[in-house]
Amino acid sequence: MAIKRCPICGFHGKVSKNAPGSFGLELVLWIVIFPVGIIYSMWRLFGKHECCPACGNPNLIDANRYPAPRCRVEPHNQRGFATLEWIKALIVASIACVFVYAFAYIMLLVG
Ligand SMILES: [Zn+2]
Repeated sequence: MAIKRCPICGFHGKVSKNAPGSFGLELVLWIVIFPVGIIYSMWRLFGKHECCPACGNPNLIDANRYPAPRCRVEPHNQRGFATLEWIKALIVASIACVFVYAFAYIMLLVG
């Protein structure tokens, strides 16, 4: 818990960390596609970030470090976006792998 400030709605106070994605999808992935479920859980665990409790804005400013409303959060924001894209690519690749394995298994059964 840290004192943060929201540049959009002006909220100033303590915020808690929220996990990205949804628990429902995580559960479905664990049941249907087990390896993808693990990756999705890892993404949720390591992707925890602080959101504004008033408007949900994830780009909060450290109120202790930047007391004046003059700082920009673009560099941090871009880095977070790049990480998210990388994880998305990993999830798509793992889904593709599962399909390839399933196809190979079916071909073994048929042939
Ligand atoms: Zn806000």
